[in-house]
Amino acid sequence: MPKEITTLVTFFGATGDLAKRKLYPSVYNLYKKGFLVEHFGILGTSRAELSTKQFQVMVHDSIKEFMNEEAPQDFLKHFDYQRADITTPEDYAPLKALIEEMDEKFALKGNRIFYMSVAPRFFGTVAKLLKSEGLLSENGEFNRLMIEKPFGSDYETAEKLNNELSHAFSEDQVYRIDHYLGKEMVQNIAALRFGNPMFTKSWNRDSIDNIQVTLSETLGVEDRAGYYDTAGALRDMIQNHTMQIVGWLAMDEPATWTDRDIRIAKNAAFNSLKIYTPDEVAENFVRGQYGPNAIGTQVGYLDEKDVPADSQNNTFVAGKLQFDSYRWQGVPFYIRTGKRLAAKTTRIDIVFKKDYNLFDSNQPLSNDVLTIIIDPEGRIEYKIAAKATTAEFKTRPITLKWKASDEDKAQTPEPYERMIHDTMDGNGSNFADWNGVAVAWKFVDAVQSAWDSVHQDFPNYVSGTMGPAASDELLEREDREWIYKG
Ligand code: NAP
Repeated sequence: MPKEITTLVTFFGATGDLAKRKLYPSVYNLYKKGFLVEHFGILGTSRAELSTKQFQVMVHDSIKEFMNEEAPQDFLKHFDYQRADITTPEDYAPLKALIEEMDEKFALKGNRIFYMSVAPRFFGTVAKLLKSEGLLSENGEFNRLMIEKPFGSDYETAEKLNNELSHAFSEDQVYRIDHYLGKEMVQNIAALRFGNPMFTKSWNRDSIDNIQVTLSETLGVEDRAGYYDTAGALRDMIQNHTMQIVGWLAMDEPATWTDRDIRIAKNAAFNSLKIYTPDEVAENFVRGQYGPNAIGTQVGYLDEKDVPADSQNNTFVAGKLQFDSYRWQGVPFYIRTGKRLAAKTTRIDIVFKKDYNLFDSNQPLSNDVLTIIIDPEGRIEYKIAAKATTAEFKTRPITLKWKASDEDKAQTPEPYERMIHDTMDGNGSNFADWNGVAVAWKFVDAVQSAWDSVHQDFPNYVSGTMGPAASDELLEREDREWIYKG
């Protein structure tokens, strides 16, 4: 039986794209699954003038559009709306009044979640005003803040934002969203690592040769050049999603399976990440920018709408992470992401060390590889050696494969549903902790600042390939290769 949750959720940005596409459908799923029954209230706010009825119709229509389902009135009656400009302190008084009214009406025990589905420039202001205008409950079990991405645009802005949040909320009240952490197969990393003694015992430098994380996209910048040209693949994909995946891969076993101990273990790993000097950046990181495709039907980045003709922005990044820790000494974590690559996929390849070949000392064994495919569909593959079907005794690599079934897929919650549920449940395991975010920014800032001081000739890869040649060379010079070749 699902555990019924008692809470009020206030959605800032209630008329926005994210709220309609993801947040209301997620809340509806939690209702259908029995996590939300009687004691829940959803308060929407934005600057638009909407009556309660109009808001309920909007929520109904979003669920209809994105889930093709008719939400019943028994569900919609838990939704209410209050117009407010979130930059105006006086507008918080009517919000407070409605929060208190809903609290009483649905018997919500003062439990409050505030979801900031608004532009990042508002995050600090909202947190501050929630406290100063008295919207946090004093008698409830919790006040929690869910915060969208991006969390800052470099270490300095992230730290400033974090300081603003921490005036009103303590770290364990802040749920920083990275939707990759809500993905089923990202959560499967821990199950594979800690649920199989064979992997638990070999997840270290004795057995692992290297780890590869690839987040590749086929699309170009599309209509996001205004933002993307200031961020690049490094800030858009490495600082957050890639680093958060690496956190699950690099951490030690947590002392217990609680969010507190998981965060402690992840933070220890993040704190051992080597931050590079400019020379080390040149040695360990590669940047790329896409040119046209081979047949000239796609333009290069510099010819995309709104991209400055002399842009030095990176649309591809490959690099090597190193952890100064007992577990990972000498084991490279190769990461790679980019736009206009050969295929759309998110995957992890754990490459195990080779051993002496008992059967043929002239022929090296091949590396065993455990592959976790996160997108576009959940798969796990394990490449191991088995006997070749030849007269002489030789080995050949074979691959054991598992794929999420249709039934699995049907019951897998969407990342947003899972993240809203976990916040309601007070489980911060799958959210980005400030320490991890801070280390990731320091690392990424060091790479960006080294790049900013050196001009690079672009474009340097053809659209539809797996990035510049230098990305392959990064591994080849260490006698390794990318497992995934597109
Ligand atoms: P959006 O469609 O532009 O919606 C913004 C919302 O903020 C609207 O409801 C808007 O309503 C409200 N708003 C703007 N200024 C306001 C003010 N001064 N006072 C009160 N409300 C105000 O943005 P979005 O795409 O939903 O994105 C929301 C957040 O989610 C952003 O942080 C974004 O980075 C993040 N995010 C979005 C997606 C996505 O797929 N959309 C995915 C990942 C992350 P009014 O104009 O009526 O006030």
